Amino acid sequence: MGRTLLGIAGFPVAHSRSPAMQNAALRELELDWLYVALPLVPERFAETASSLAASGYRGINVTIPHKAAAHDLADERTAAATAIGAANTLTYEDGRIEADNTDAGGLLDALGWSGGAPAGVDCLVLGAGGSAGAAAWALREAGAARVSVWNRTAERAADLAADLGVRHADRPRSADLIVNCTSVGLGGEPPGQEAALGAVGLAGIGPPATFCDLVYGSEPTALARWAERGGSRVVDGLEVLVRQGARSLERWTERPAPVDAMRAAARAS
Ligand code: NDP
Repeated sequence: MGRTLLGIAGFPVAHSRSPAMQNAALRELELDWLYVALPLVPERFAETASSLAASGYRGINVTIPHKAAAHDLADERTAAATAIGAANTLTYEDGRIEADNTDAGGLLDALGWSGGAPAGVDCLVLGAGGSAGAAAWALREAGAARVSVWNRTAERAADLAADLGVRHADRPRSADLIVNCTSVGLGGEPPGQEAALGAVGLAGIGPPATFCDLVYGSEPTALARWAERGGSRVVDGLEVLVRQGARSLERWTERPAPVDAMRAAARAS
């Protein structure tokens, strides 16, 4: 038996901080495993991901654009993966493939809400892509009093809200928690605070008690700076990345993840 392998499949994937973060965790756990980047073109994803166990893989993380395909190819799915219709974690177990979505639980861990959302909390999710689905489902499952989804393309938000049993917001409004699940702010230099606020419909709306931006980079995003200046508690996308990765690692190793070592490596990489 060779070395046990883990990885992240995406396209592109070279920018991912997951290898640095997960290899730091494996060192901390004194496991002689290796976590690698797997650039897989969409046409080859299902075939390749289905055969990795034979090459010594215990599991993989899955990122853009493969999350729906990862859900589809699995033999078994967790409740989160089933409800969201997308998976970010595959585990190879006794010849079968299990799909999970740790983006959902990772968001709750990052917010400090894995034991349940605060009573009466009103949440607004911005965006209607894969990460918005995971966020809306997680917040609903955590017992948030109200979860609404807003998106630039309204019908996508309406469809997502109907699928997940949450509300569709015609326009953004103030809330206790706002989670940015759009890609606004991605790609280096933010377009400026006013432009970013306008793009996600938050112009003229007061910062929430808690703001979470899934987008992250080397500097705080324009939206995170707006929230911080307005006195919000800000949870950044790197913390969500760390927490979803910790949940994946715990599934594969069946040991508690060394979250501090993972956070330090993710922030340094
Ligand atoms: P998707 O491509 O599935 O969705 C993108 C969303 O952004 C859509 O709702 C889209 O709206 C919206 N959008 C894109 N451009 C604009 C714009 N200029 N103005 C307003 N809305 C816009 O992406 P994901 O859901 O997978 O990811 C979203 C972001 O979250 C990415 O930046 C990703 O890096 C980050 N992410 C971070 C994670 C973490 O662990 N921190 C985990 C997962 C994602 P429309 O439907 O109108 O096109």
